[in-house]
Amino acid sequence: KANRKFHPDDSVINVGGVLIGGGHFAVMAGPCSVETPEQVLETAKACKEAGATILRGGAFKPRTSPYSFQGMGPEGLELLELAKKETGLPIVSEVMDISQLQYFDNVDMLQIGARNMQNFTLLKEVGKLNKPVLLKRGLSATYEEWLMAAEYIMSEGNEQVVLCERGIRTFETKTRNTLDVTAIPMMHELSHLPIIMDPSHAAGMSRMVRPLSLASVGGGADGLMIEVHNDPSKALCDGPQALRPDQFTSLMKEVIALRQAL
Ligand code: PEP
Ligand code: MN
Repeated sequence: KANRKFHPDDSVINVGGVLIGGGHFAVMAGPCSVETPEQVLETAKACKEAGATILRGGAFKPRTSPYSFQGMGPEGLELLELAKKETGLPIVSEVMDISQLQYFDNVDMLQIGARNMQNFTLLKEVGKLNKPVLLKRGLSATYEEWLMAAEYIMSEGNEQVVLCERGIRTFETKTRNTLDVTAIPMMHELSHLPIIMDPSHAAGMSRMVRPLSLASVGGGADGLMIEVHNDPSKALCDGPQALRPDQFTSLMKEVIALRQAL
């Protein structure tokens, strides 16, 4: 179902009124995790003002260490919904487990994290819903494995899948991961599904977000996912890779200009 061969036209996915794919470009921005009402509202307003079209924010966080902040849970999703009411931005948030799906009724797009890309039980379950799914590429997943993960969702009936390249494991240790820009033309060739790029988790460093974003736009991505925090130094998760609102604002100007030049 994800194969371009049987669906020559680009899929266009509708996330709460925002279109992705087939020439429609979306920017998902917001904090790694929802932390406080002030943090999420301030960040959301800044993202909207800069031109983001979808608000991101994690309430259930897949942290490497069990002792790290695990997210606010259902309360975090409520804060995200509040920010949606304030800004009008649709929201995307990660669901880590089937048991959490009950809290996601008002979330516009379900994010499947890199670590869950091959959680086939979860994939099948979101495949039964009528809601867009953002499928992140696994840390060491091949294109074929990634597309088969999309197939797990689509084969259950839900064909509203957007792919997200977020950096893969390579031998390089200076960056958190390596952004695979080749994924854009390759996925466009193999599949009709839109593909967006997440330079924040790829590099793990805020200063790399701008060049990687511009490379992604130039490479033909259908959108971006960028972590923004109103005060990155105080972030409970992924602070080093988060952009300040002013940095995000200037990046958005460049992204828009580059899109127009293509
Ligand atoms: C995230 O988007 O906050 C996240 C945890 O991403 P990934 O699954 O790509 O690591
Ligand atoms: Mn993060």
